[in-house]
Amino acid sequence: MRARVDGTVQGVGYRPFVYRLAQEFGIAGWVLNDERGVLVEAEGPADVVEAFLDRLRADAPPLADVRGVEAEDIDALGDPGFQIVASQRGGAATAPVTVDSATCEDCLAELADPADRRHRYPFLNCTNCGPRFTIVTGIPYDRPATTMAGFVMCDACQAEYDDPLNRRFHAQPNACPACGPRVRLVERDGLEVETDDAMRAAAQDLLDGRILAIKGLGGYHLACRADDETVVAALRARKRREDRPFALLVADVEAARRLVTLSEPEQALLTSRQRPIVLARRLPDAPVAPSVAPRAPDLGVMLPYTPLHQLLATDAGVALVMTSGNVSDEPIAFDDGDARERLEQIADRFLVHDRPIATRTDDSVVRVVRERPLLMRRSRGHTPAALDLPVASARHLLGVGAEQKNAFCVAKGDRAWPSHHIGDIKNYETLTSLRDGVTHFEALFEVAPEVVAHDLHPDYLSTRYALEREGVELVEVQHHHAHLAATLAEHGETGPAVGAIYDGTGLGSDGTIWGGEILVGGLADFERAGRLAGVWLPGGEGAIREPWRMACSWLTQMREPLPPAFEPIAQQRWNMVARMVMTGVGATSTSSAGRLFDAVAAMCGVRLEVSYEGQAAVEFEALADPGAAEPYEFQLQAIAPVVMNPQPAIRAVLADLAAGVPVSTISARFHAGLARVTVEACVLAAERADVDLAVLSGGVFQNRLLLELTAAGLESAGLRVLVPERLPPNDGQIAFGQVAVAAAREAAG
Ligand code: ZN
Ligand code: ZN
Ligand code: FE
Repeated sequence: MRARVDGTVQGVGYRPFVYRLAQEFGIAGWVLNDERGVLVEAEGPADVVEAFLDRLRADAPPLADVRGVEAEDIDALGDPGFQIVASQRGGAATAPVTVDSATCEDCLAELADPADRRHRYPFLNCTNCGPRFTIVTGIPYDRPATTMAGFVMCDACQAEYDDPLNRRFHAQPNACPACGPRVRLVERDGLEVETDDAMRAAAQDLLDGRILAIKGLGGYHLACRADDETVVAALRARKRREDRPFALLVADVEAARRLVTLSEPEQALLTSRQRPIVLARRLPDAPVAPSVAPRAPDLGVMLPYTPLHQLLATDAGVALVMTSGNVSDEPIAFDDGDARERLEQIADRFLVHDRPIATRTDDSVVRVVRERPLLMRRSRGHTPAALDLPVASARHLLGVGAEQKNAFCVAKGDRAWPSHHIGDIKNYETLTSLRDGVTHFEALFEVAPEVVAHDLHPDYLSTRYALEREGVELVEVQHHHAHLAATLAEHGETGPAVGAIYDGTGLGSDGTIWGGEILVGGLADFERAGRLAGVWLPGGEGAIREPWRMACSWLTQMREPLPPAFEPIAQQRWNMVARMVMTGVGATSTSSAGRLFDAVAAMCGVRLEVSYEGQAAVEFEALADPGAAEPYEFQLQAIAPVVMNPQPAIRAVLADLAAGVPVSTISARFHAGLARVTVEACVLAAERADVDLAVLSGGVFQNRLLLELTAAGLESAGLRVLVPERLPPNDGQIAFGQVAVAAAREAAG
């Protein structure tokens, strides 16, 4: 019997598992890795072989993901014993590279065991855990194709690596203090700090109130103790113009519970092998400095995912700020020289090591909504896991994504590989990240894109990159259609469905800026079935940084004067924007839901100016007291497309503000009103199109309250609701959506 095992089965201890299983069943034959996966030849009595084949899938090791076991009868060779045969090269490579995985229990036990030769070794790992994607440079996945290539294993490590029964059999990053990477604590000027235990010294530095730049798995972090306002405020100041909440690293679940409340699904995510940053409700008495997460009701908490982080968190014994090593909006640093240059003004000292990082990979971020994970950022721990495409493609595909929160996606057949988080592609550095990332993925998954899908927006650098590629067919995908398609496709659906796609901005098919859309369609095409009422977007990017401009736009349209919250905005500036709105000069029309949130948040005085997109809306959501909130009235104009007009709601906001109603109530009423009109518009569109499937996506649906209310409303109207789970609802899902659209259009001819 010969069996082909498909899926993620390389670099995860699958062959030794087969070997042990064969011993157990007394089966003869061999197992080998080739470039398609794992091939097994098994000889023995038919019923025994049958049972053996069942277990190949059922009992696979923790990091394996077996997609299928295909068996065929062959003539028995009669060779005795069972062997692991060396890797074969050549042929088509579809054997996937796996994700980085948090340190396993066995390795943690060794890390803490003074008698173990890897006691306190920050780079220990085994086939069940450790770095993968962040160190891989090529295929097949083997030590020479990783950033461990330069480290020669000592005899003890080599013996483990060669022994099929050892937990470190073919663990490519296998290492020990004698032969592997070393950690060093260095001053800003590069001078090494004299210490016999750099990890303990680093933990002491943190306790003493120093800011450290720490080279981790996918990049550099900036760290300091989280309970000391002086040092956290200093870090915030040195990072410049940065208001985003800082993430926290704690040693274990108990320590996390001192900071946040954890529901069961939240705890499951926190302790998962992906080890994302989990956004959870902050405890009122959490011992955390105010500057960690100003105005945020949630804290982002994560557990250690490498032995290095485990040692640091345990030795320090306090919660640590662990934020991206960058200044403001730049991408996280991962190259040693670059990190030194960019972070030396911020960090007091550097904790570094000599294992290169192949691919910059940010921490993944997730929150739980409706008991399910909702990803804000999908990167470390998730990349490069593949997603299935519901419609297979005959040709190789590339989706280049949007501009913000960019991730790209390559695909062939029915498999798609969404990339790690690239970031906001607004400059040469992030564009280079995109280019290099695509080249890397093309090699890893042997994809040579013949079709390149991109956004309609001609000025996105990602679009320009797509247009530069030669000899390919280009496919234009409307931004909000890509959101809809991505959500359908990740759930294995093709539509048709009605989708409420709410986000900041995306270019519409009619040349205006969309962002509050009710679409009806499937993977191949769509119709605009409804939208938020249009308003001028005064000053493009300026309107994003200054939410008061959106408030001015709405209020000018409604002939309302400057409200009291706007005193800090000089009448002169207000008049200038109002004039822009009245004449339409320097303004574009938009139906953006994100900008509507900005406008209302600004009217309530939450934020007149922001340091990152959506900040006013996030803080407005945080204020909401969803108790007994009577929804504000939105006007539903049942024309085609349906128009949802927020003017009555805005008038009610102004009236409530004038009556001294607290913003917590106004926010709750606004959320409830927008959810209600969204449900009504979706139901109307669904009836007109005769569909019973609904999709909610777009960055605005990172808003937990809005998502919960809208989904519940749609469900009670009898619609089945799909929400993004494996990819973020924000523009991180766009590239996968583009690829799904391209594949479906190709299949439709
Ligand atoms: Zn391990
Ligand atoms: Zn060694
Ligand atoms: Fe979007």
